[in-house]
Amino acid sequence: MSDDDKLTHYLCIGCPLGCRLEVEETDDDIIVRGFTCKRGKLYGRQEHIDPRRMVTTTVAVTGGRWPRLPVKTRDPVPKALVREVCAVLRDVRIDAPVEMGDVITRNVLDTGIDIIAARDLPAA
Ligand code: SF4
Repeated sequence: MSDDDKLTHYLCIGCPLGCRLEVEETDDDIIVRGFTCKRGKLYGRQEHIDPRRMVTTTVAVTGGRWPRLPVKTRDPVPKALVREVCAVLRDVRIDAPVEMGDVITRNVLDTGIDIIAARDLPAA
């Protein structure tokens, strides 16, 4: 195995600078290079061992001023579950009024992460 085989490359999405990260996995460590700030170093490590994403979408609302409510995950969920989280939320319908931060779905897909309202939605 060549040294290049041990390297994985990622684009940091922490800010618009888009630093190109290089991650090397050794027998006892994960080494991140190419970051400009600490956030990028943490992102490279996280992306390599357990990639996660925030999910933002909308859910249906009954009796609200608007028919749909923007929602988001409280914390990033495993990247592999993003589609499944969206599928779960497609079937969710809640009653207005809603306040920003209200829990819409608790512990989505047993991730330990809640889906919360991203804004207030008053009754019609
Ligand atoms: S490493 Fe820091 S400066 Fe570079 S893209 Fe990531 S967050 Fe931005």
